[in-house]
Amino acid sequence: ENYKSVALIVGVTGIVGSSLAEVLTLEDTPGGPWKVYGVARRPRPLWFSKNPLQYIQCDVSNTEETISKLSPLTDITHIFYVSWIGSEDCDINATMFKNILYTVIPSAPNLQHICLQTGIKHYFGIFEEGSKVKPHDSPYTEDLPRLDVANFYHDLEDILYEETAKNHLTWSVHRPAMIFGFSPCSMMNIASTLCVYATICKYENKPLVYPGSKASWNCYADAVDADLIAEHEIWAAVDPKAKNQVLNCNNGDVFKWKHMWKTIAEQFGLEMVGYIEGKEQVSLAELMKDKDLVWDEIVKKHNLVPTKLKDIAAFWFADIAFCSENFLSSMNKNKELGFLGFRDSTKSFISCIDKIRAYRLFRK
Ligand code: NAD
Repeated sequence: ENYKSVALIVGVTGIVGSSLAEVLTLEDTPGGPWKVYGVARRPRPLWFSKNPLQYIQCDVSNTEETISKLSPLTDITHIFYVSWIGSEDCDINATMFKNILYTVIPSAPNLQHICLQTGIKHYFGIFEEGSKVKPHDSPYTEDLPRLDVANFYHDLEDILYEETAKNHLTWSVHRPAMIFGFSPCSMMNIASTLCVYATICKYENKPLVYPGSKASWNCYADAVDADLIAEHEIWAAVDPKAKNQVLNCNNGDVFKWKHMWKTIAEQFGLEMVGYIEGKEQVSLAELMKDKDLVWDEIVKKHNLVPTKLKDIAAFWFADIAFCSENFLSSMNKNKELGFLGFRDSTKSFISCIDKIRAYRLFRK
């Protein structure tokens, strides 16, 4: 066992957690060779069975369980916190993060760095508060002040700053844009959500209709590939220039949904109907609310890996993406500090589709 670094990924089955697990276990990853522990709430899923990491099932909102399962991991050098409870509740999200830090910091004497993933909601407020707060004007830069609204990102940052200062550790905060990834265990996966929508349209012999607003159809949008976030977080974990920094993370380009919609329709061999002048946004969550059994039929008919519609698709999240505009963030600080990673957003979306198909989570 000749490891140079030892990672603890909290939220390892999630959209970024699963990418981190893949990238960290590659031979030539910076800081490596890495030994990897991965924590998630559910038992190890089948699709995840090939990764060589040590999988730990643990509910990290439970303090005793966290102590009993994670305090024996005394060799951890880096923590990658890529989790949330699935609601914007400040107390539960803070408890989860505290349980991790209060357990690992005292038991892992070689701990060096903690990566915390939050997101661009930092700049426009949380979903549940809706329009109650005036968002910052974009493009978002990392130095913009906190908005005057409760946001669990603030709680997580404060815990991070306090614990790392007290214990002489380094930290980085990562604020990704909307994430393109493949995990079927993510609570917010726009790619799998839209692929499920397209699969259902195909099954019902219907065209792929854009349900969103005019503004979201026409505006520039940005996103970030889950593998690129993994590279970004690993870079921050090992490069001294990124220590103790808050950093945005996007693909480094922009796209428009009107173009991406065409790409998705092509990928599924569907006719498409774009935004129609004068049409109000239609909620996908509403449109898809009775499709659970249809999804079960599709899974059975095409012999797909069994999934439940509510797990693999977050239609509410698509509804938010399709009424939004001007959520762009700046990557200038990253470039100045030396992070030049990028992806082509269209290729990134297609690569998610390919990967989800390769795992037989849905069909062509
Ligand atoms: P995710 O929903 O994809 O995955 C969450 C992971 O955390 C899963 O592995 C799950 O098992 C684990 N988890 C949840 N509760 C747990 C518990 N009690 N005990 C143990 N494990 C638990 O996560 P994500 O989307 O990467 O979210 C992480 C952060 O990134 C959040 O703050 C989110 O707001 C932010 N973010 C997400 C997106 C996106 O498009 N998904 C975009 C920008 C920012």
